[in-house]
Amino acid sequence: MSIDLNPEFVDHIAVAVKNLEEAIKKFERIGLKPYHTEEVADQKVKVAMIKVGPTNIELLEPTSEDSPIAKFIEKKGEGLHHVALRVNGLEEILNSMKEAGIRLIDEKPRLGAEGKKIAFIHPKETGILLELSEVEE
Ligand code: ZN
Repeated sequence: MSIDLNPEFVDHIAVAVKNLEEAIKKFERIGLKPYHTEEVADQKVKVAMIKVGPTNIELLEPTSEDSPIAKFIEKKGEGLHHVALRVNGLEEILNSMKEAGIRLIDEKPRLGAEGKKIAFIHPKETGILLELSEVEE
Protein backbone atom coordinates (compact mmCIF):
# COMPACT_ATOMS: atom_id res chain seq x y z
CA MET A 1 0.00 0.00 0.00
CA SER A 2 1.38 3.43 -0.89
CA ILE A 3 0.88 6.47 1.25
CA ASP A 4 -0.97 9.41 -0.29
CA LEU A 5 1.15 12.10 1.40
CA ASN A 6 1.05 14.75 -1.33
CA PRO A 7 2.70 17.53 0.74
CA GLU A 8 1.96 21.14 -0.30
CA PHE A 9 5.25 22.73 0.76
CA VAL A 10 7.89 22.75 3.48
CA ASP A 11 5.99 24.30 6.40
CA HIS A 12 9.05 24.93 8.49
CA ILE A 13 12.63 24.00 9.20
CA ALA A 14 13.33 23.75 12.92
CA VAL A 15 16.65 24.58 14.55
CA ALA A 16 17.47 23.62 18.15
CA VAL A 17 19.15 26.45 20.08
CA LYS A 18 20.33 26.78 23.67
CA ASN A 19 19.38 30.43 24.01
CA LEU A 20 16.61 31.96 21.90
CA GLU A 21 17.63 35.59 22.41
CA GLU A 22 21.20 34.90 21.32
CA ALA A 23 20.03 32.85 18.33
CA ILE A 24 17.64 35.64 17.27
CA LYS A 25 20.54 38.12 17.36
CA LYS A 26 22.62 35.84 15.12
CA PHE A 27 19.83 35.46 12.58
CA GLU A 28 19.06 39.20 12.66
CA ARG A 29 22.73 39.89 11.88
CA ILE A 30 22.30 38.15 8.52
CA GLY A 31 18.96 39.87 7.83
CA LEU A 32 16.46 37.29 9.13
CA LYS A 33 14.10 38.78 11.69
CA PRO A 34 11.45 36.76 13.57
CA TYR A 35 7.83 37.91 13.14
CA HIS A 36 6.45 35.86 16.03
CA THR A 37 7.56 34.19 19.24
CA GLU A 38 5.56 31.94 21.55
CA GLU A 39 5.91 29.23 24.17
CA VAL A 40 4.52 25.80 23.28
CA ALA A 41 3.94 24.22 26.68
CA ASP A 42 3.08 20.81 25.21
CA GLN A 43 6.54 20.53 23.63
CA LYS A 44 8.38 22.42 26.39
CA VAL A 45 9.89 24.94 23.99
CA LYS A 46 10.02 28.63 23.23
CA VAL A 47 9.73 29.28 19.50
CA ALA A 48 10.77 32.18 17.27
CA MET A 49 9.55 32.13 13.66
CA ILE A 50 11.29 33.68 10.69
CA LYS A 51 9.35 33.96 7.45
CA VAL A 52 10.92 32.54 4.26
CA GLY A 53 8.14 32.68 1.66
CA PRO A 54 5.47 30.15 2.67
CA THR A 55 8.03 28.42 4.90
CA ASN A 56 9.33 29.37 8.34
CA ILE A 57 12.63 28.87 10.00
CA GLU A 58 11.71 28.01 13.61
CA LEU A 59 14.22 28.51 16.37
CA LEU A 60 13.47 26.22 19.33
CA GLU A 61 14.80 26.75 22.83
CA PRO A 62 13.98 24.09 25.45
CA THR A 63 12.13 25.38 28.53
CA SER A 64 12.84 22.28 30.59
CA GLU A 65 15.61 19.71 30.93
CA ASP A 66 13.25 16.88 29.96
CA SER A 67 12.20 18.64 26.74
CA PRO A 68 13.00 16.58 23.61
CA ILE A 69 14.92 19.63 22.34
CA ALA A 70 17.09 19.69 25.50
CA LYS A 71 17.90 16.01 24.99
CA PHE A 72 18.72 16.61 21.32
CA ILE A 73 21.13 19.47 22.15
CA GLU A 74 22.76 17.35 24.85
CA LYS A 75 23.39 14.52 22.36
CA LYS A 76 24.07 16.33 19.09
CA GLY A 77 24.56 20.00 19.93
CA GLU A 78 22.70 22.96 18.46
CA GLY A 79 21.55 22.75 14.85
CA LEU A 80 18.98 21.39 12.43
CA HIS A 81 16.34 19.45 14.38
CA HIS A 82 13.49 18.65 12.00
CA VAL A 83 11.75 19.48 8.73
CA ALA A 84 7.98 19.87 8.62
CA LEU A 85 5.78 19.24 5.59
CA ARG A 86 2.34 20.81 5.19
CA VAL A 87 -0.29 18.18 4.42
CA ASN A 88 -4.05 17.82 4.19
CA GLY A 89 -5.90 15.03 6.00
CA LEU A 90 -3.28 14.41 8.68
CA GLU A 91 -5.36 11.92 10.65
CA GLU A 92 -6.01 9.74 7.56
CA ILE A 93 -2.32 9.90 6.60
CA LEU A 94 -1.29 8.77 10.09
CA ASN A 95 -3.78 5.90 9.97
CA SER A 96 -2.47 4.65 6.64
CA MET A 97 1.14 4.98 7.83
CA LYS A 98 0.28 3.00 10.95
CA GLU A 99 -1.31 0.29 8.82
CA ALA A 100 1.79 0.22 6.61
CA GLY A 101 3.98 -0.36 9.67
CA ILE A 102 5.71 3.02 9.52
CA ARG A 103 7.10 4.01 12.90
CA LEU A 104 5.41 7.14 14.21
CA ILE A 105 6.26 9.22 17.24
CA ASP A 106 2.67 10.52 17.22
CA GLU A 107 -0.05 8.15 16.10
CA LYS A 108 -2.62 10.92 16.61
CA PRO A 109 -2.25 14.62 15.71
CA ARG A 110 -1.36 16.96 18.55
CA LEU A 111 -1.29 20.72 18.93
CA GLY A 112 1.80 22.58 17.70
CA ALA A 113 2.79 26.24 17.43
CA GLU A 114 0.26 28.64 15.85
CA GLY A 115 -2.55 26.16 16.56
CA LYS A 116 -1.44 23.73 13.84
CA LYS A 117 -2.09 20.00 14.08
CA ILE A 118 1.21 18.13 13.98
CA ALA A 119 2.68 14.62 14.16
CA PHE A 120 6.24 13.31 13.95
CA ILE A 121 7.45 10.34 11.93
CA HIS A 122 10.23 8.37 13.62
CA PRO A 123 13.68 9.50 12.34
CA LYS A 124 14.71 5.87 11.78
CA GLU A 125 12.26 5.79 8.84
CA THR A 126 14.12 8.35 6.70
CA GLY A 127 17.28 9.36 8.57
CA ILE A 128 15.83 12.74 9.50
CA LEU A 129 13.10 13.77 11.89
CA LEU A 130 10.08 14.66 9.76
CA GLU A 131 6.98 16.43 11.02
CA LEU A 132 3.65 16.55 9.24
CA SER A 133 1.59 19.64 9.88
CA GLU A 134 -1.95 20.62 8.99
CA VAL A 135 -3.87 23.85 9.29
CA GLU A 136 -7.58 23.42 9.86
CA GLU A 137 -9.72 25.42 7.45
ZN1 ZN B 1 8.03 21.63 13.95
